[in-house]
Amino acid sequence: MISFPISINEGARLLAEIEQRSGQRLSACYQCGRCTSTCVAAFAFDYPPHRLMRLLQVGMVREVLASKTAQLCLDCMTCSMRCPMKIDVAGVIETAKAVADEAGLQDTERNVRLFRRGFLNNVRRHGRLHEAGLLIWFNFKTNNPMNDVKLLPLVLRKKNFHIFPPRIKNRRQVRRLFREINGSGKQG
Ligand code: SF4
Ligand code: SF4
Repeated sequence: MISFPISINEGARLLAEIEQRSGQRLSACYQCGRCTSTCVAAFAFDYPPHRLMRLLQVGMVREVLASKTAQLCLDCMTCSMRCPMKIDVAGVIETAKAVADEAGLQDTERNVRLFRRGFLNNVRRHGRLHEAGLLIWFNFKTNNPMNDVKLLPLVLRKKNFHIFPPRIKNRRQVRRLFREINGSGKQG
């Protein structure tokens, strides 16, 4: 188990470990931002996926390991499928998450489970993600109601951030899908 803050040498070692374990070449990322533009959970991250890749490129491993991004990524693989350089961004984040767990960061697992449960319940209820609802729910569940409030003006400028619950057609079909997945025991 390592302790924080970490030294430059330890940071370099961890960076090499993330590259080796994920099998990805981080230097190939040219910051196009496509991973971030397709990420459904980026609104809840402190570093969007492309920024996280940049932090790793410049050796700021400590920031990545301690980040909300490493804790809250849903591992949905959308970013990996859209990367023009075929970088498995989700794999990199998953590896960073594993390294962070081994580093003994507090509450990682609990917050990940909580965020994933909240995300799925939110989509089941509304038929698609209601970002504001999920953020408020998560902040209260983690006893941190003012978490990221300072980011609100920035978030409100995003076109795809829903303050009010979205209205979609066929909400029942989404619920039926969830019931079927639950019935087959596939939902985590
Ligand atoms: S999509 Fe790929 S190349 Fe573009 S910023 Fe993300 S990781 Fe880098
Ligand atoms: S795997 Fe994580 S970073 Fe990638 S799109 Fe899904 S939630 Fe976003």
